[in-house]
Amino acid sequence: MSEKVEKGGISVETEHIFPVIKKWLYSEKEIFLREIVSNACDALTKLTRLSSLGEIGAIDEKLCVKVTLDKENNTLTVSDNGIGMTDEEVKKYICQIALSGAVDFIQKYEGESDEASKDGIIGHFGLGFYSAFMVSDRVDIETKSYTGGKPVFWTCSESGEYELREGDREERGTDVIMHISDDEVEFLTETKIREVLEKYCSFMPFEIYLEKAGEEKKEEGKEGEKKEEPKPINDTHPLWQKNPSECTEEEYKDFYKKVFNDYKDPLFYIHLNADYPLNFKGILYFPEITSEYESLEGQVKLYYNQVFVADNVKEVIPEYLLMLKGVLDCPELPLNVSRSYLQSNSYVSKLSAHIVKKVADKLNSLYTNEREKYEKLWLDIKTFVEYASLRDRKFYDRIKDSVLLPLTDGKFATVGEYLEKAKEKHENTVYYATDKKTQSQYISLFTSEGIDCVLFDKVIDASFIGLLEDDRKIKFVRVDADIAESLKGDGEKYENEDTVKLFREVSGKEKLNVKFEALKNKKLPAILNLSEQSRRLDDMMKLYAMAGKGGADAPSYTEETLVLNSENALIRRLETLDDDKKKVAAKQIYMLSLLSLRQLTPDEMQSFLSDSFDLLEKELD
Ligand code: ADP
Repeated sequence: MSEKVEKGGISVETEHIFPVIKKWLYSEKEIFLREIVSNACDALTKLTRLSSLGEIGAIDEKLCVKVTLDKENNTLTVSDNGIGMTDEEVKKYICQIALSGAVDFIQKYEGESDEASKDGIIGHFGLGFYSAFMVSDRVDIETKSYTGGKPVFWTCSESGEYELREGDREERGTDVIMHISDDEVEFLTETKIREVLEKYCSFMPFEIYLEKAGEEKKEEGKEGEKKEEPKPINDTHPLWQKNPSECTEEEYKDFYKKVFNDYKDPLFYIHLNADYPLNFKGILYFPEITSEYESLEGQVKLYYNQVFVADNVKEVIPEYLLMLKGVLDCPELPLNVSRSYLQSNSYVSKLSAHIVKKVADKLNSLYTNEREKYEKLWLDIKTFVEYASLRDRKFYDRIKDSVLLPLTDGKFATVGEYLEKAKEKHENTVYYATDKKTQSQYISLFTSEGIDCVLFDKVIDASFIGLLEDDRKIKFVRVDADIAESLKGDGEKYENEDTVKLFREVSGKEKLNVKFEALKNKKLPAILNLSEQSRRLDDMMKLYAMAGKGGADAPSYTEETLVLNSENALIRRLETLDDDKKKVAAKQIYMLSLLSLRQLTPDEMQSFLSDSFDLLEKELD
């Protein structure tokens, strides 16, 4: 070993860096391992590049990274057989540049520290080599450069004092030896290290092995026992890096299940593969969605050259795409810059636009080429499509001709198809139901006339209706809204002012709107209608009030109209009955139409039941 020892102190400018690193990165300390292991992979990549450029000869040994846990010495070591460093390089890259880079970084985030740690943005965009000090009292480097020359040993304590001298390493490559601090002993356990490696390093491009040093290792490898071939932590050739034409359906599904821990198959996927200048790869999966709310919990993992960066980085991927699951590898992204930079970055907006286009293309191609399959998928992807359309008009414009309307009979129609069929009966109007069960009476009025009803029973549908109306210049009318012209027959007009009064009386609503219409369906005595506009207003108010008061089960619709069917015999007979009978019959008719409109309140239900039993008794007398 050489006698020459160089000592140095971290410059004045940066002397507080270690405490700052420790404090700031508190929430996501574990990323130190990602930083150190990815530096090791970089060193291996550089070596392979030199070899392929002919600068050095062929490499005949296996290039890999070893992560060694040594509980006896409280160290965690990351070793690689990459390019290594000369002492000049250690001085240049480790002592100066990296550190001043880190200072820049920290200054950039100074004002943002609270918010930044909340969002974990610093965790997303690590600090490089120095993040090792988040968990270590001291860090040593043993390195030997591929250029030959003497090995170098560098050691630095958490106070920032370093020493540089000739080292012991015999082979080309680097060991980064982290002396784990007493309060971070978690990082000396295999479970923790394995978990962190699996999270961040699962797809790094060189094999990574987790090993134990010292006694523990000996224990494991006792003589006579068959030694298992060590398995790397990672998959060095993740599916997204492959050419889509070389990937099988099975591979896509397996990859999905493994990466997202899902036992269900995805519905379909999109392999993204954008060349220069976007230069990114990825796979987006449409997961099977079982409930309206679950769908909002997607997971898009962002990678930087196969190094995991973070889940669901809102600044990079349009928020609505985060409902999907997938992986995106963007080596072009300047990941070590601030969130606001990412937000206004033109690369990021091009990237988003590209992904959005690909998603839209996929939906359109499924619609055009595999309509049957598309219809089967529709209910699972509908919420996504609606949400995405509402968030991004450009997305909607791309896919609008592939939007399907689910019909109450289980079939599907595009808006165009629906309007085409409706052309003669109800131009530019789409009838819809929001509840197949409670509105069944109304639905059947339409379907028996050959008019299709759309089933829009999700909360988000109401907003989507607004978008469709605005874009297509059409009207959506709920089945229980004002009686459609096409439900009216041409029967003779019958009206009776006394009957109107009678219904106002039995309903207990003095101002109830009552009108006569001759309906084609002669069997139905009466039906309650709600004006589409005032009901929508009501619905909106209810949504707002949801967080506040409950009791929404007795809605007070502002404009309720009782339509009496002048084609119905019972309605016509009412005027001929004696007073008591009239009231009993009118009340029953009113309650039945209320029952078809909505759930009765407990009081309404009680009175309806007792009236019905009375009627029954009288009938049987
Ligand atoms: P970055 O990786 O972003 O450049 P780091 O602080 O992580 O910043 O590392 C600084 C530099 O130190 C690297 O760019 C590289 O030149 C050198 N370095 C770090 N780790 C290794 C290693 N394992 N082998 C060779 N060089 C390394």
